[in-house]
Amino acid sequence: MKKLLAVITALCIAASFAACSKGGAENTTTTTSADSSGAELTSKDGGDPDSEATTKDQPLASTWDYAYAIETPKVADTSGDWNLLLVNREHALPENYIDSVELVNVCNTDEQLDKRVASHYEDMFNAAAADGLYLTPCSGYRSYELQKRNFQSRIDMYMGQGMTMTYATIEASKVILPPGTSEHNAGLAMDIISVQDSFENTEHFKWLCENAQDYGFILRYPKDKQDVTKIVYEPWHWRYVGVEAAREMKKSGECLEEYLSHH
Ligand SMILES: [Zn+2]
Repeated sequence: MKKLLAVITALCIAASFAACSKGGAENTTTTTSADSSGAELTSKDGGDPDSEATTKDQPLASTWDYAYAIETPKVADTSGDWNLLLVNREHALPENYIDSVELVNVCNTDEQLDKRVASHYEDMFNAAAADGLYLTPCSGYRSYELQKRNFQSRIDMYMGQGMTMTYATIEASKVILPPGTSEHNAGLAMDIISVQDSFENTEHFKWLCENAQDYGFILRYPKDKQDVTKIVYEPWHWRYVGVEAAREMKKSGECLEEYLSHH
């Protein structure tokens, strides 16, 4: 069964890889054209030269390179339940957060998640597969450096089109979350795709909407919560929060920000 699963997964990934590069506010991959338009430009060039001297123990907020354009986020509070960690535009991971997280590969693919999340994703994957639907893992964990490189590439691309650095940075942040502010940087979320172009209209999406909460996952950026999440609707982005919280949010219709405001 495991071997069969691996083959099916590989086929699904091969078939859908092209669709994988579609963007979202937090969704970026190494396959975008942005990479070829300046990924090699050093990400440190536009920032504070002092950032070179920072140590890994310092929080992200002290090394924020985009203060000229984007308000410095607070450091995410990592003292609570790990599965309810709030990472968003206003709350960035400490730069060394991932050092204490064990990352593992998911469903025999190259995609990784926090080990504490991976088994739940695989349970969900297997349950959907039993219904004939393959929840192809497209993008799980992304390193801080990769997020930074992609973000900087987008800034460079816009500057190449004539924008000022400030304006280019603001515009880039509408398409790609700045480094440290994406749930992918924490290994807590997976982008799931299908061979069809619009994930929202797939049976996979429908299945997830009906069942994901029973495996601890939520649709993190719902269509009707964009004013709260500050992220465009992303039907493919599923975040692990644990079964109890996921079921509660499913029932109440709250997004994570709202749920955490009273928990
Ligand atoms: Zn995502």
